[in-house]
Amino acid sequence: MTEADIVEGVSLEAIVSLAKRRGFVFPSAEIYGGFAASYDYGPLGVEMKRQIRELWWQAMVRERDDIVGIESSIITNSKVWEASGHLDTFHDPMTDCLNCQARLRSDQIEENTCPECGSVGRFTEAREFNLMLKTNVGPVVDASSVAYLRPETAQGMFINFENVQQSTRKRLPFGIAQIGKSFRNEITTKQFIFRTREFEQMEMEFFCDPQDPFDWHTYWKKERLRWYYRLGVNPDRLRLRDHNPEELSHYSKATSDIEVHYQWGWGELEGIAHRGEYDLSAHAAHSGKSLSYFDPDRNEHIIPHVVEPAVGVDRVMLMLLSDAYAEETLENGDQRTVLHFAPDVAPAEVAVLPLSRNEKLGPTARRVYDVVRPRFRSQYDDAQSIGRRYRRQDEIGTPLAVTVDFDTIDDDAVTIRDRDTMKQTRVSISELPEVLNQHLVAMRPHIPEYDEIDV
Ligand code: ATP
Repeated sequence: MTEADIVEGVSLEAIVSLAKRRGFVFPSAEIYGGFAASYDYGPLGVEMKRQIRELWWQAMVRERDDIVGIESSIITNSKVWEASGHLDTFHDPMTDCLNCQARLRSDQIEENTCPECGSVGRFTEAREFNLMLKTNVGPVVDASSVAYLRPETAQGMFINFENVQQSTRKRLPFGIAQIGKSFRNEITTKQFIFRTREFEQMEMEFFCDPQDPFDWHTYWKKERLRWYYRLGVNPDRLRLRDHNPEELSHYSKATSDIEVHYQWGWGELEGIAHRGEYDLSAHAAHSGKSLSYFDPDRNEHIIPHVVEPAVGVDRVMLMLLSDAYAEETLENGDQRTVLHFAPDVAPAEVAVLPLSRNEKLGPTARRVYDVVRPRFRSQYDDAQSIGRRYRRQDEIGTPLAVTVDFDTIDDDAVTIRDRDTMKQTRVSISELPEVLNQHLVAMRPHIPEYDEIDV
């Protein structure tokens, strides 16, 4: 697939519409006219989100012995945000269009032209706008009760560095990972779930010895790309982009973004930042606690450096929907919309479908469903014609359908249909779980080895 094919492919509207129609993502508070850039995840969306988190946790924590997890609180002592630099430097420049009153980020205006109404050069002076959402904790609303909803999960790892290191006795290099909600009072929120004010992050702080000759920044760029290949994303849809020096955040020594080709062009999916010793030093200076690491070999205290891969769950989901979506014409001329999800990210892996809604077939099909349900994310559907039900399962990306027909009652066998090839295989119910598993494994994407990845 070339860049042009991707751009010309599917519209964002088609994805938003499918996401709502089938229960992936709904606009929030729709019955009250909605709420800007807030979305609720429906029954299928929530299954997918869980899978994304689970696959990240699996790769980042469970499959490794050098990373551990935490869950830190969303609202905490405001001094954390003073030390991290968020109170002073976490702003975006905001401007208003004098013609249409659109509120815009002045650093995103191209050629001095309003993206909403097209008027040229008619903007208010840009003013800095802090992106943290503010609240008050406790019954008294005054300066002493001000608190912030965290704009990133990363600081939870830095403020717990000592607790984690001492309780786990981990030696460098080691990482601390967390998945959780973050909040930013974004000025512009467009493009569906790409940029919202409430979102979920998966972040990992990898602490290493500044004298370690190994290049951990490059290592994490490769590992994170491997993770996306594991999710089945078309590699042509991803690219790495190094930040140039003027783009770097206040804490960063070097940052590379993994970008995705979304419907509107390339956009950030994940940031991989080399944060140096910025965060631990800043918290040590503000708290008066020494956040160093004692190196028993060198017999000295050192301040570790940090490499951080950070990504939003919602952006991964949008990428997967965009990448998997296809409208196809079948050999018999029928049209279908299909999500070509890798089995691990599909909301359902298997659908059990009786050939028709029928007194005789129903109990047999339910018995098959009982065999499948504990082992696979699955659905049961007996409404309308079988053809329609295949289309419905294709549209939500279910890799395999198990059809129960009248012969099943006699031969105790069912038919497995593959979403992508549409090939059908007859298999006995006693072997069904094993055969389904073999099919799903065969549909899993190939994951290149670390050394095969060029960054
Ligand atoms: P952007 O430049 O798009 O605003 P950022 O560079 O500020 O993003 P980071 O602070 O690096 O983002 O956050 C890490 C990740 O968290 C991002 O790569 C993105 O996947 C996700 N993320 C950040 N802001 C949002 C948001 N408003 N909505 C959804 N996801 C977000």
